[in-house]
Amino acid sequence: MAYKDYEIVIGLEVHVELKTKTKIYCDCTTEFGGEPNTHCCPICTGMPGTLPVLNGKVVDYAIKAGLATNCKINQVSKQDRKNYFYPDLPKAYQTSQYDLPLCYEGSLDIELDGEIKNIGITRIHIEEDAGKLNHEADGTLVDYNRCGVPLIEIVTEPDLRSPKEVRLLMQKLRTILLYTDVSDCKMNEGSLRCDVNLSVRKWGAKELGTRTEMKNINSFNFAVKAAEYEAKRQIKVIENGGIIVQETRRWNEKKGVTVSMRSKEEAHDYRYFPAPDLMPIITSDEKIKALRAEIPELPDKRIIRYTREDGLSEYDANLLVASPKISDYFDKACIIAKNKKTVANLIISELFKRLNEEEKEEGIIPIKPENLGKLAELLDSNIISSSVGKKVFTTMWEEDSAPNEIVDKLGLKQINDDSKLKEIAIQVINENDKAVKDYLLGKEAALQSLMGQMMRLTKGKANPKIVIDILKEIINTRK
Ligand code: ADP
Ligand code: MG
Ligand code: ZN
Repeated sequence: MAYKDYEIVIGLEVHVELKTKTKIYCDCTTEFGGEPNTHCCPICTGMPGTLPVLNGKVVDYAIKAGLATNCKINQVSKQDRKNYFYPDLPKAYQTSQYDLPLCYEGSLDIELDGEIKNIGITRIHIEEDAGKLNHEADGTLVDYNRCGVPLIEIVTEPDLRSPKEVRLLMQKLRTILLYTDVSDCKMNEGSLRCDVNLSVRKWGAKELGTRTEMKNINSFNFAVKAAEYEAKRQIKVIENGGIIVQETRRWNEKKGVTVSMRSKEEAHDYRYFPAPDLMPIITSDEKIKALRAEIPELPDKRIIRYTREDGLSEYDANLLVASPKISDYFDKACIIAKNKKTVANLIISELFKRLNEEEKEEGIIPIKPENLGKLAELLDSNIISSSVGKKVFTTMWEEDSAPNEIVDKLGLKQINDDSKLKEIAIQVINENDKAVKDYLLGKEAALQSLMGQMMRLTKGKANPKIVIDILKEIINTRK
């Protein structure tokens, strides 16, 4: 089979739960979980005679997401009913948007092997989530808690060309949504999930191939694996003389395959029509301006700032911007510290380690950013050694105090005093005949062991650069 004879074409539909406190058309909480059917009311369970009232925050969040993804805004937008029957949808229609979505014609850049590639965003519209079916041994139960939780659906152009690009775009979208603060993007709770539309065609073909759609994928890894599998499956079908049927498929993670669910529905199957009991959504220029002003500096710009102005590596800059909370923390710590690389190192090596170990959320970093900045300054001005730096970091993590106080209290200042270090070096050299001989025979490792002794005797406070010089100097006089 000639896998490489084919080009893969992918477009995504990404569903994002917005972080409003209440649902899109009623006052019920959007909180995740809860006893089944306790976060509901007559409106979100679709009782006859009830009337929806649009939550203004939903519109604000959707427009913000649109502005952050370079979309145009439909200042006159409307909502539509998408009709279909399924037990998780008590109204038998979903209020969504059809021909006048809030946002359209945006784009995002992804970076692929050092090259920038622009991916079109077709549209972003608002809609309500459906409930959840719980399949039990003796039947299926329905939970309406999620009914009416506000979503935005972000639709991309069929511009992606590989599973790897799917991952990059999803990551890009996720960080932007986190920065604009419109969603918590918790994939394990389903607040970010996507449908992967995929087709293949021979290289050079002008027409797109027939696509299949893999619905409701809730992890980056699954999206990548589903796309990899589906591309191979389609190519095999075509190579064997078959044709691709346009259909909806499901990714089965246990078996690592996609399976057919149903033939694909068309827009006309849904009998879309304007929502009769909701007003058009009118957005003024001022409103757009105000929302744009709320969007913080986005990750792409921060990466440029960190690499070009602060001298960080591309790799480190990417690690820092992955979360807005960490990036903001870094910026605050840098107000105090001159050498931003030292601050970055402290965050990447020490802080990430602690957050991982304790599975803490980034929101609760027990060290104030200005104290981390001060610690970086102590390290840069050689007042403390790097091993003491780690000790101070740990102490700051456990008790909220300033690094200079800790250094003073515990007597941790680095020993830079030549004569004092010489005294200790002579002692170490006298007590370690063998290591000295080994070093003179050319074994560099022997010097490290002498250095280790010095560090032990000074409780990690000796300035390592000076120690090395002094050790060499004294040993050389004993040749
Ligand atoms: P629908 O609304 O029926 O799901 P759309 O035309 O809106 O269909 O497309 C949905 C998604 O499918 C979009 O992300 C789009 O980029 C993608 N898509 C459309 N045609 C193809 C194709 N031939 N191959 C791959 N992806 C496609
Ligand atoms: Mg679709
Ligand atoms: Zn409700």
